[in-house]
Amino acid sequence: MRACPINCIAVKQQFRTCSRITNDVNQMSRSYPCLSILPGMLPNYDPNDNEAGMKILEDLTENVYQIQQGVLEEIITRNAHTEYLKGFLNGQSDKDLFKKKVPVVNYEDIKPYIERIANGDSSNIISADPITELLTSSGTSGGQPKMMPSTAEDLHRKTFFYNLLVPVMNKYVDGLDDGKGMYLLFVKPEIKAPSGLMARPVLTSYYKSSNFRNRPFNRFNVYTSPDETILCSDSKQSMYCQLLCGLVQRTEVLRVGAVFASAFLRAIKFLEDYWKELCSNIRTGHVSDWITDPSCRKVVPLILSKPNWELANLIEHECSNKSWEGIIKKLWPRTKYIEVIVTGSMAQYISTLEFYSGGLPLVSTMYASSECYFGINFKPLSKPSDVSYTLVPNMAYFELIPVKKDHEDATQDVQCNGICEENCMEEETGKEDIETVDLVDVKLGHYYELVVTTFTGLYRYRVGDILMVTGFHNNAPQFRFVHRRNVVLSIDTDKTNEEDLLKAVTKAKLLLESLGFLLIEYTSYADTFSIPGHYVLFWELTNKGRNDLPELDSKIMEQCCSTVEESLDSVYRRCRRKDNSIGPLEIRVVKHGTFNALMDFCISQGSSVNQYKTPRCIKSAEAINILDSRVVGRFFSQNAPCWEPV
Ligand code: AMP
Repeated sequence: MRACPINCIAVKQQFRTCSRITNDVNQMSRSYPCLSILPGMLPNYDPNDNEAGMKILEDLTENVYQIQQGVLEEIITRNAHTEYLKGFLNGQSDKDLFKKKVPVVNYEDIKPYIERIANGDSSNIISADPITELLTSSGTSGGQPKMMPSTAEDLHRKTFFYNLLVPVMNKYVDGLDDGKGMYLLFVKPEIKAPSGLMARPVLTSYYKSSNFRNRPFNRFNVYTSPDETILCSDSKQSMYCQLLCGLVQRTEVLRVGAVFASAFLRAIKFLEDYWKELCSNIRTGHVSDWITDPSCRKVVPLILSKPNWELANLIEHECSNKSWEGIIKKLWPRTKYIEVIVTGSMAQYISTLEFYSGGLPLVSTMYASSECYFGINFKPLSKPSDVSYTLVPNMAYFELIPVKKDHEDATQDVQCNGICEENCMEEETGKEDIETVDLVDVKLGHYYELVVTTFTGLYRYRVGDILMVTGFHNNAPQFRFVHRRNVVLSIDTDKTNEEDLLKAVTKAKLLLESLGFLLIEYTSYADTFSIPGHYVLFWELTNKGRNDLPELDSKIMEQCCSTVEESLDSVYRRCRRKDNSIGPLEIRVVKHGTFNALMDFCISQGSSVNQYKTPRCIKSAEAINILDSRVVGRFFSQNAPCWEPV
């Protein structure tokens, strides 16, 4: 027998047995006894035991190959008789056959199955385990959020994942047990699908679960936000109450955060708008009357239990300072770090966060999605630009499609946008040719697109994220998040691609064409200096038959802004209308010849004249300056676009 790579007895005790252990897994267990009950199952250990948590992480990352094989085996054995897999495998559960016969798919390919389930068909068409809810993703299809299947077991998988973040953090930051975390978390609207299944964002699903309520330490009040304030469906009341509770407990707070950087900055902006009222509540010991949510009214007074003049004066003193530089450190003086995701599209918020944070580390702990939770940052205190995520091998079966950088576009991008990784091209063209590699076979420095086979009914599903291999933790590759396929603009959870932007602009420009104006060029950028951030479009217009540009009617231009917003997808419209996490869209009209100047700039920076294409999104400050210095009119949308839950 081969030497067992991990401490079998200790680990074995930590895993609960499962009735569905397959032959192959048993076979594997003869080689590595401690892994026999690992694949597809979740270690049942005490999440308060840091050492046990670290040990599990070591084991998982040591045994990536075996775990991945076991996960695949378990998924296809469980689901061999689903309509979906039967169509390709004819009831067989052979791993090689799976990779030969089951296609790598996009959402559009599986949408009919998801819609059937949403409309009441049995969920065993894709999953032997009953689908218990549909998770609405921030990616959209036909303007509506994509819906990802989820199961009861998956909630435990997520909980297991969250619990593993704790020992990693404790390894790098001492004394976190001596105080509280102020995490500003929110639920979003949900709907019931015709089948009766709830359709809601993944975090809303998690926060509403008993797994969240019973999360480690919750009963010891180690978080400043009572669950009731997080679960309040009115986002304004929720934010107000959470900030109030966080301020009252300010001296106990050791860490602050939100899921994404954009949400944390929104909280700072909210504080800017409401600090006087918050101080007045603290001074009187009474919560404002407009907080009408019954659960909030019940729990917040338990924290704001009496008038506190001294605290109100202190907060007032800090907040009335003209500059809010370092405000986090001033209001929550014991804070050791800010936990917010600042990788991917959230990187645009780093400088603003640094301004408010007073030099606190920005910690991106995890990489996850509605489809599946993927990876953990094993070095949480590393600089945002150095953050890598280690994929956790028992979350799903991971495959990776090699992608190469398109050098021509990449050059243009580096020069015009300053971010070289933005342009990765898929190597494959036809769907049939898509080649994937296993997680253990990725190469250092190479780029890949992530594909997952989950325990919840997704098979060889393209997530749409491009990742780069930066190293290995034991045998587990670590990835830097490079970008999401096709996304040009993103402020919060919205993800607008070039095609959506083009469609929206095409619709809006019709309003001008009837007046004799033509849109000859456009580009865009996400302005994140204002809070909330907003989309800015630069438009170069011409008047048919004339070279000068007569005065533009601001009403019509504002209508153009609104039309673009109405034409963007439902996640954008929700963020803009319901969450207020995106500000009014702006069109900046630039003078004649501006886009020639932009082209000259890009070429001077190394872009090829022959292959120059106007970038549809600009990131480089220099390029934005070129456009901004030629602006002749600025117009903002005056109405938030319509939005209804799906
Ligand atoms: P959703 O399914 O709406 O939760 O969105 C998931 C997507 O958000 C992922 O596929 C990524 O594109 C992005 N995302 C999630 N976590 C991170 C992260 N830590 N860094 C960068 N992007 C992320």
